Amino acid sequence: MSIARIKKNDTVIAVAGVDCGKKGKVLYMQPAKQRVLVEGLNLRKKALRKSEENPQGGIAEKENSIAISNVMLFCPKCDKGVKITNEHDEAKGALRKCRVCSHSFDG
Ligand SMILES: [Zn+2]
Repeated sequence: MSIARIKKNDTVIAVAGVDCGKKGKVLYMQPAKQRVLVEGLNLRKKALRKSEENPQGGIAEKENSIAISNVMLFCPKCDKGVKITNEHDEAKGALRKCRVCSHSFDG
């Protein structure tokens, strides 16, 4: 498994856990922990204190990071999570491509 399998702003799909099958955008990476924060995935409810911004207080939903091994890069052509191959392009450097349909994730 290569380290740069998933990058910030990629669309990924959860392949394990309570959000299995849901997809979202990678908000940020925690490479040291092998975890990623994905928009809309692994939401936890968090009580908000009353403040000027939130005079009523309330409950906010906030993403928690999930293990990189629980997500796969989502291929829009295949419409599912896919494995990738790394290809070297003279102009663009390393390109990640879908192993199934060769869709390029790096433009
Ligand atoms: Zn594909």
